[in-house]
Order: sequence, then structure tokens, then C-alpha cells
Amino acid sequence: MKYCKKCVQPDTRPRIYFNEDGVCGACLWKEEKKTIDWEARRQELQGIADWAKKEAKKRGTYDCVLGVSGGKDTTFTSLYARDRLGLNCLLVNAWPEQMTEIGRYNIENLCKLGFDIINIKTNPRVMRKIIRDDFFKRGNLNISTEYTIWSSAYRVAMEHKVPLIIQGENEALTLGASEGQTRDGEATQVYKNNTLSGVNAFQRYADCEGVSRKDLFLYNFPDPGLLDRIGIRAYYLEFYINEWDQVGNAEFSIKHGLKIREDDLSELGSVQKFCALDSDLWLVNQLIKYYKLGFGYATDEACYEIREGRITREEGFELVRKYDGKCGEKYIKKACDYIGITTDIFWREIEKWRGPMWRRDSGGSWTLKND
Ligand SMILES: [Zn+2]
Repeated sequence: MKYCKKCVQPDTRPRIYFNEDGVCGACLWKEEKKTIDWEARRQELQGIADWAKKEAKKRGTYDCVLGVSGGKDTTFTSLYARDRLGLNCLLVNAWPEQMTEIGRYNIENLCKLGFDIINIKTNPRVMRKIIRDDFFKRGNLNISTEYTIWSSAYRVAMEHKVPLIIQGENEALTLGASEGQTRDGEATQVYKNNTLSGVNAFQRYADCEGVSRKDLFLYNFPDPGLLDRIGIRAYYLEFYINEWDQVGNAEFSIKHGLKIREDDLSELGSVQKFCALDSDLWLVNQLIKYYKLGFGYATDEACYEIREGRITREEGFELVRKYDGKCGEKYIKKACDYIGITTDIFWREIEKWRGPMWRRDSGGSWTLKND
């Protein structure tokens, strides 16, 4: 594996971009941020918000829809949209499978901060079949949840003819994985992001046993052409405001009542305690990702910390070595019980997904091939 010269971004991340000096797309975005006229961007965003308010008045609806998990980024984005842009917001929450107590608390907290929220909970029997299918065929526990999270805001906006959708992070910027993705503020095509890769749910689950097309309505992303015809626009907040920052968003949200995890970091495989607050399956998914791609969420977080100048690159590597690929036994057991397998089958299955960046030493243990 090769790493970015400035952070700990590995070259095994799908669609990752490096320039000729070996610097990753996310670090380049961090540099680019210094040259942007942020006041002009903010005014552009205010212009979009003012357009939405005018349109909403004509249509007799909300100004904007936000898809929320209740976590750090969506709490920050919701409050920014309302308090800074003056938007009348409708929040939409698609329940992830294995919703945590903290996740429920945070959604309730967001509601109490003064928002209308629509909760979407899909049929758990269908969800379970899909997640099992994803586990065995794709080595992933998270795809189905991403479908409902991403598509729900767009579906609700369409139903109520709400003119504007605001998303928080554009991962093409923050993760630097921009090949084939737009690096601007426009967010009507979020279904092209890494996990969904432009494949709609009807296509992906066409051969999923016991699941038919009619079961997948809420999973399927609406046709972008349809959004256009109704007059719905969608934008990433991150593109327009300089203060977008993972830790900053968390600190802001904690001040507004966000509850974070209490586990040891090695149970979470993470550098911070505010990852995936609403879903335990997600933690196990990061472990599987570690087998597949040679890195987990601690890598992402270490990269953010390095770019913000809070830690050095060496300290970043140390965190990665310490936490990547770690996941509490209780979470693995819970995921196995959910899909109806033993932990032995779990380990055997995920071994099949081990990527080519791993090598086995003479003692039989696996290490990453690092250049
Ligand atoms: Zn980098």
C-alpha cells in the first residue's frame, strides 16, 4: 500500500485521486480551501436559500428537506440551515438497522431543538434479507441502509414539492475519492457516491432471494430528471462554508445536546467517540472494510486530524495501527445473530474478502504490504 505524502490516506481507497507528488485529493482540497473566496460562496448559498424561500411560498411547502441521522454532521447542518440561512426545514430520518439507544436519543434531541421530523422505517423482514444478501455476495453490511438514508430526503422532497435539499458532506471533497464524482456543491446525484456507485436498488437486489421489486420502493433513488422537472435543487453545505470540519461539527453538536458513544476506542475501531452513533452494524462493516481494503475508519479520522493540524502524520500512523480493524466482540456477535450465522462463519466469510494488499508471514499472521 502507498500512502499520501501529507496524511495517511491509502491508495487502496476506491476512486482515490493522487497528484504527481503523491498528495491525495482530500489534502489538495484542504489546500484549495485556502484560496477560495468564502464570503462569495456564502453569498451564493444565501442566494440559493432565498430562491428556495420564494419558491416554497409559491408552492405552499417547506423551504428545504434535510436527510438526518441525528449525528454530528446532520445536527450541525440542520441548525446551520435554519439559524444561519433562515430556512424552514423538514427533516427526514431513515432508521438504520440496529438503531442504537444513542441514535434514538439524538434524533429526539434534534426534534427538541425545534424541527419537524419524518421518520421512515422500512420493513425489517425485507431489510434483514437484503443485509444477509449483501454480506454473503458483497461483503458489506451497510449498502441497504445507505440506500434508504440517501433516497429518503429526495423522495420526501418530491412528494411535498420542496424546492431545496441540503446535504452536509461531499465525500468527493472530504475523502478525496473523486474519480467520476462531482467536486462542486451540486448534490442531485448523490447515488453515484462510493457505496452505491450509481447502481439503483432494483438492479442490485434483482436476484435477492425472497425480495421483489415492490419491496424496494423506499430503497430506490428517484430519477434525477424527475427532480429537475419538479424544480428541486440539491446542494452540499460543505462546498459553501469554510468552517465545515468533522471535530468542529461534533463540538458544536455536543453543545446542542448530541450524545456520543462511551465505549473504549478499540471497541469502536475509531479515533473519536462520535462515529456511527446510530448504527452498530456500521462498526462491523468497518472491520470488513479493513479486510477488503486494508484500512478502516480510524484511517479516515486520523486523516481529518492531520489535515486540521491537530496531530502529526506520524501520530496519525500510530492511531491507525492501534485502532484500524478493531471491533468489539459484542458488536460482531450482534451482527451475526442478526443475519443468522455463527461467528465462525462470519470470520470464514470475511476472510474470503481479504484484499491483495495483505501478505501472510512465515508465522501465518497477516500484515499489510506497505511500501
Ligand atoms: Zn492526503
